[in-house]
Amino acid sequence: MYHQDDTIAAISTPRGSGGIAVIRISGSLAICTADTIFRGKASLEKIESHRAVLGKIVDAPNDQSTENPTISASILDEVIVVVFRAPNSFTCEDVVEISCHGGQYLAHRILELLLHNGTRMAEPGEFTQRAFLNGRLDLSQAEAVADLISARTEASLKSALAQFQGALSARVKKIRSTLLDLCSLLELELDFAEEDLEFANKEEVAARLQQTRDEIQSFLATYERGKILREGAKLVIVGKPNVGKSSLMNALLKEERAIVTDLPGTTRDVLEEQLDIRGVLFRVVDTAGLRTTSDAVEKEGVLRAYQQVRDAEIVLFLFDGSCELDRDDRSLIDEVFKSRKDDSRAGIVVAINKVDLPGKLSEAEVGQRVGVSDVLQISATLHLGFESLETKLLEKALGPETSLISSDAMVTNIRQKLALEGGIQALDRALASVRKGLSGEFVAVDLKEALNALGEIIGEVTTEDVLGNIFSKFCIGK
Ligand code: GDP
Repeated sequence: MYHQDDTIAAISTPRGSGGIAVIRISGSLAICTADTIFRGKASLEKIESHRAVLGKIVDAPNDQSTENPTISASILDEVIVVVFRAPNSFTCEDVVEISCHGGQYLAHRILELLLHNGTRMAEPGEFTQRAFLNGRLDLSQAEAVADLISARTEASLKSALAQFQGALSARVKKIRSTLLDLCSLLELELDFAEEDLEFANKEEVAARLQQTRDEIQSFLATYERGKILREGAKLVIVGKPNVGKSSLMNALLKEERAIVTDLPGTTRDVLEEQLDIRGVLFRVVDTAGLRTTSDAVEKEGVLRAYQQVRDAEIVLFLFDGSCELDRDDRSLIDEVFKSRKDDSRAGIVVAINKVDLPGKLSEAEVGQRVGVSDVLQISATLHLGFESLETKLLEKALGPETSLISSDAMVTNIRQKLALEGGIQALDRALASVRKGLSGEFVAVDLKEALNALGEIIGEVTTEDVLGNIFSKFCIGK
């Protein structure tokens, strides 16, 4: 863990040049360090908290002639400075934010001056870490800061905001408090063990444990949805050559918001495009490689393409309605189902394209072949049937409740998921002990473990490793 008493500084805006850049300083020396390089109407020590002041940054801290500088060689920039006095700041410490003109060199020069005058460079995520350590945010809220910053769609933003505002923490705390009550009851009974008093009726304890377990389980069930709202759903469009895959992709990109195009995916031959359909992110993988081939290099590409099919949340089968179903269509269907983890039809969407042309393919025939009852009709070039297609894609990504964009607590990352699973396992052991009629001591041990597991989510129970892991993923300046 870094020294928490240090005063830290970093550029909090992204690299590169922009209108402004913000340099953030936090710690007990924040205000006096900023004062050494700031010249304004009054010193920062004297100005009110949360009030913006105009002034100059000078590169000659000891030069008194710069007390009231007009144009002097030592002036670096005209800036706006805001002082946030402890504890009313993001980190709960004294914080100074200097907004300078957004040049890369300029911001670095100002940072350098601060580093020479008593601050040290902040580590990645250290501002947010201090906010956590000083009790301003719990751990799930700190994680939500990173999610807020990386949110790319309305849905991911809303879900991050709900978590930042404490929706997840509140739910975890409620479950914990039920468990704490039970724990105290069992411990009370242990204190009076000699007198053979029964404070907690065994049936009732079992019932309450079961209830809490179910509650965690149903919370855990929000993980898939939460993950998709946060990271987006992976979608692959499959179909033999010329059915209209690229045309459809281009049409969707035009119709909806394309966020980033041609982002290199995990491998060289797999490109990923990002599509915002009604606020939900779809990461669309280009699987031009989906064909059968004997060429060794191409085979590798095909293999990777099928790997994408296996991992995708949604597979969209596309057929050309102006041609009859042929061998290529059939072998593609077989291959896709072979590569999926299970052969369930969950996550499968089927559409017949080119419905503007004379049709040779019936919905029934295609549906039967793929094994689904619902087949859509679209035209990629004329943008027909897109509304139903998009609704279907959203349904497959989020379940029937597509109206989203709820501010309910959701499990959004694997750390939270593992902690909840740990909690369930501990409760299962506790339940087994109660049912076996074991003494309260045994039950209490497992209950405490469940409490710890849940405590990890909000950071009430934590280790340096866990913290290091979370905050090292942040950028410097957050
Ligand atoms: P891909 O190989 O599956 O990516 O197919 P393309 O998107 O390259 O389309 C193959 C051909 O079909 C192109 O000439 C498209 O213009 C045409 N095409 C795609 N969608 C439609 C459609 O809805 N109607 C008609 N009439 N032609 C289409």
